[in-house]
Order: sequence, then structure tokens, then C-alpha cells
Amino acid sequence: MPSLNKGSMIILSSPSGAGKTTLVKKISKNKNFSVSISHTTRLPRPNEKNGKDYYFISKNYFKRLIKKGEFLEHAKVFDNYYGSSKGLVTEKIKKGKNIVFDIDWQGTRQIRNKNLIYRLLTIFILPPSKKELYTRLIKREKKNMKTVKKRMKGFTKDLSRWTEYDYVIINDDLNNCYKKIMKVIRNKKKISFDREFIQKHVKKLLN
Ligand code: ADP
Ligand code: 5GP
Repeated sequence: MPSLNKGSMIILSSPSGAGKTTLVKKISKNKNFSVSISHTTRLPRPNEKNGKDYYFISKNYFKRLIKKGEFLEHAKVFDNYYGSSKGLVTEKIKKGKNIVFDIDWQGTRQIRNKNLIYRLLTIFILPPSKKELYTRLIKREKKNMKTVKKRMKGFTKDLSRWTEYDYVIINDDLNNCYKKIMKVIRNKKKISFDREFIQKHVKKLLN
């Protein structure tokens, strides 16, 4: 695996509401970092902007883009389609940018299986507790309980994917978590994490 500082792919995944979108935005503020803005068929949240948070498109258009081979990866998540644009990612990475992805485990698998020439780093974010995750989802979804319930329903399955990632980090205090992520990204060599501690934390989250 090439150990480059520039031109890497960094993927953040997590159960919904753990904070990966917030973290991805924070990471992308660093020089030479850029977010992969995904396409989605989901409706925008009140504060989301087309072309900034996502490219919000119709199901038909999404299907046409799949047929044209425009996606580096794509997946159906919570009844909506999401995909990362091959063209947008390639353009930025060729300029030496580190691309940060906020994508799920299905997309992560697809990218991993491509064995691209770029350094790939996969990070799984965990919430400090299930209660805190619930609180964060309610806050974000402006008390739209139907969506909150749907996201919470996917929690256990989403959580089980942590074993597929290079690093697992708990997002309790946002700045602490961010610092840990940047340390992992900046390290050219793989640094290990306390797998046993994470395993215990996951067990607690499942209770
Ligand atoms: P995800 O992308 O994983 O679904 P978000 O980044 O949208 O999660 O975060 C969900 C909600 O939690 C947002 O309202 C966000 O502002 C908030 N949040 C994220 N990280 C923290 C944190 N460390 N402490 C408290 N609230 C947080
Ligand atoms: P949300 O609707 O909360 O923005 O995202 C829902 C889920 O879809 C999250 O797990 C998020 O990481 C994932 N997601 C967002 N964009 C993409 C994408 O382009 N590809 C894949 N596979 N998942 C994505």
C-alpha cells in the first residue's frame, strides 16, 4: 500500500447519528483535504444545500448514473440511494488532495475491493452510548420521530461492521475525537488501537 501524505482516501463510517458527517466536515477544513460530495435520492434536511452537503437527485437520474458507470461505489441505505462520483473523486485525488468519504459499510467494501493505487484508510466512529446517539438523532432530525426510529432500528446491524475497519474511534467529545482521527491520518505507519476496549464498548452499546 503506498504511504503517501497526499492523494489518500479516508473513509468514515458509523451508525447513523454518531457524528461522522460533522467530523468529515471538520477534517476537510485542513489544507489539502476535500470531501467527496455524494449523490443521493434522499430529500434534503432543512439546513442542507445542494452541491455542498449532497447532490440531491431523482431515483431515475441516479439509475442512469449507475448505468453510465459514473459511481466509484453506490448503495441503498435507509430506503434511499447514495453514491460517490468517480469523476469528482479522481479529479481531486489526481491534484494530490486527500479525499474524505462519509459513506456506509457497503460503499467502503466496494472501494476496498477495488484495490486502487491510493492509500486507503478506513475509520469507524462509535457513539459514547446508545442514549447519547438517540439524543443526537432527535436534535438533528428536529424531532422527526419516524426518521429517528428508522435510524435507531438500523443501529445494531450498522454497529456490527466495526470489525471491517482499520481504526475504531469513540466520538464522545468532538474535539478529542477529531484529534485522534487526525493523528491516525497523519501517521504514515499503521498505529494500533485497543481492540479489547472497543469490543467491551460495543458490548455495552448492544445492551
Ligand atoms: P452522522 O453523520 O454520523 O449520522 P452527524 O454528524 O449528522 O452524524 O451528527 C448527528 C448530530 O450529533 C448532529 O446534530 C451533530 O451536530 C451532533 N454531534 C456530532 N458529534 C457530536 C459530539 N461529539 N457531541 C455532541 N453532539 C455531536
Ligand atoms: P444520511 O442520510 O444521514 O446523510 O446518510 C445515511 C447513510 O448513508 C450514512 O451511513 C452515510 O454514511 C451513507 N452515505 C452517504 N453518502 C454515501 C455514499 O455516497 N455511498 C454510500 N455507500 N453511503 C453513503
